[in-house]
Amino acid sequence: MINDPLRLEQLLDDVRQFVREVAMPAERAVSEAGAIPPAIVEEMRGRGYFGWSIPAEYGGAGLSTEELALANIELSQCTVAFRSRVGINTGIGTEALVQDGSEELKRRYLPGLASGRLTGCLALTEPEAGSDASALQATGQPLGDGRYRLDGRKRYITLAPIADVFTVLVRTGDASLRGADAATAFLVERGTPGLSTPPETPKMGQEGAPIGEVHLDNCVVDESRIIGRLHGGFRTVLKVLNKQRINLAALSTGPAIRMLDEALSYVLERKQFGQPIGSFQLVQAMLADCKVDIEAARALILDTARKRDRGEDVTMEVSLCKYLATEMCGRVADRVVQIFGGQGYVKERIIEQFYRDVRALRIYEGTSQIHQLNIARLLLQRSEVKA
Ligand SMILES: Cc1cc2nc3c(=O)[nH]c(=O)nc-3n(C[C@H](O)[C@H](O)[C@H](O)COP(=O)(O)OP(=O)(O)OC[C@H]3O[C@@H](n4cnc5c(N)ncnc54)[C@H](O)[C@@H]3O)c2cc1C
Repeated sequence: MINDPLRLEQLLDDVRQFVREVAMPAERAVSEAGAIPPAIVEEMRGRGYFGWSIPAEYGGAGLSTEELALANIELSQCTVAFRSRVGINTGIGTEALVQDGSEELKRRYLPGLASGRLTGCLALTEPEAGSDASALQATGQPLGDGRYRLDGRKRYITLAPIADVFTVLVRTGDASLRGADAATAFLVERGTPGLSTPPETPKMGQEGAPIGEVHLDNCVVDESRIIGRLHGGFRTVLKVLNKQRINLAALSTGPAIRMLDEALSYVLERKQFGQPIGSFQLVQAMLADCKVDIEAARALILDTARKRDRGEDVTMEVSLCKYLATEMCGRVADRVVQIFGGQGYVKERIIEQFYRDVRALRIYEGTSQIHQLNIARLLLQRSEVKA
């Protein structure tokens, strides 16, 4: 759903200009420093990027799912760190609050998150609870006076080392319960005694988008910090992920577009056997396969976004999008490294960084295998209903 075509076109033009003139020239420096310079974060704040998905009444832009997907496809055409810095606030770091937060929590935190003054994050994954989120071991014990004591360890949490506001999921139900009614989401602010974040966890790529652990040790919070209802945390997180999987699919399409653009320039510039390598049909086939992959993903993502905006059930479609687009991006990265030959493998060109950066897309927010399982489960359920 496009709310305001003119406003959207202005936004997309602004993002294209930011990517081309601000982010792309800084990609190498951000990767080497492992951080985005504060001036660029300020620039993104000034341009209003942090508030894209937050409703206007709390200071955001209130973009629809389709508008957000289009903006994400543009912003993700630079290396992942830039969109990750913004994307947690326009995705998993705020969506629980937007969907299920109390009015008090929304008024207190959403304006700061929308402006980028505050940085959010979602802390779900634990050492023993990855794909099987229902196995989480962090706990929230009622103290009997309207407060809860949170204990446990979260890991691989994007932006945890620099976040101000943490949406954490902990077990509040009976230890024997798994799944739907066992967990609660709490909003915890940095500075709350008992919450700490060790230094970032080193990783393969996405330098400048730190991930790390969140430690909860006797961290006491008031019940007013519950997002949604007590024991309803998985339902809240499911709502977040339902939308986020469309976002992530869009964020996997931008890097593929950029890599194909880089390849198109290179095949005209690089000569072998006395001709540009773009004149070789085997190279052309790789270019064509990248284009087919990108357009198929883009079409599915925008179609799904429109369905979600119309209020349709997109449980199956979001898995299709996430699985298709992240695998697509991996295939494009692999082909483009091949097209660059040795130049695709050395650090002189940006392609080796994209190759490393996009590898994580197939792992987080549900691995490819988990999405295959979701799709098959829903297919089988629906066919049983018909039978
Ligand atoms: C860069 C990065 C950023 C992240 N950011 C966040 C974040 O912000 N917040 C957060 O909460 N988490 C985050 N994560 C964690 C991420 O969501 C998990 O890594 C992911 O869910 C997989 O869990 P796991 O790593 O424990 O792998 P595991 O669950 O141990 O999976 C290992 C392998 O087993 C396969 N597997 C598991 N179960 C099945 C099954 N039933 N059938 C078939 N195959 C199966 C998986 O597909 C995978 O191939 C991030 C991870 C990374 C790498």
